[in-house]
Amino acid sequence: MSKTIFEKICSREIPATIIYEDELVVAFRDVNPQAPVHILVVPRQPITRLAEAGPGAQALLGHLLLKAAQVARQAGLHGGYRLVINNGPDGGESVPHLHCHILGGRAMGWPPG
Ligand code: AMP
Repeated sequence: MSKTIFEKICSREIPATIIYEDELVVAFRDVNPQAPVHILVVPRQPITRLAEAGPGAQALLGHLLLKAAQVARQAGLHGGYRLVINNGPDGGESVPHLHCHILGGRAMGWPPG
């Protein structure tokens, strides 16, 4: 299996603006931001998408969400933010490596497009 683009970012084979990393997750700026602050939080383990995550990923997914909250706080998003996980074609997923979008810096609309 070839590496996903996010695996290559995690291993620093391709550049990204990394703003947080630990042994389980990496957070970096989205290259095509949809809000003033748009950060992706990605598990180093290349789980394809949320629907493919098994029970063994429970602790990792909890870590991912808690780190997303920490990164959002450190990015100064004190007025709030939106977390998005796109899953599959109808969900708008374009990179088959589970990731959580942090979107903030403006008021979000509802419903999403
Ligand atoms: P999704 O559509 O939920 O799969 O989100 C994939 C996201 O990855 C999109 O918002 C892209 O802009 C972003 N993206 C793709 N390639 C890169 C890259 N090399 N560096 C940073 N973000 C990227």
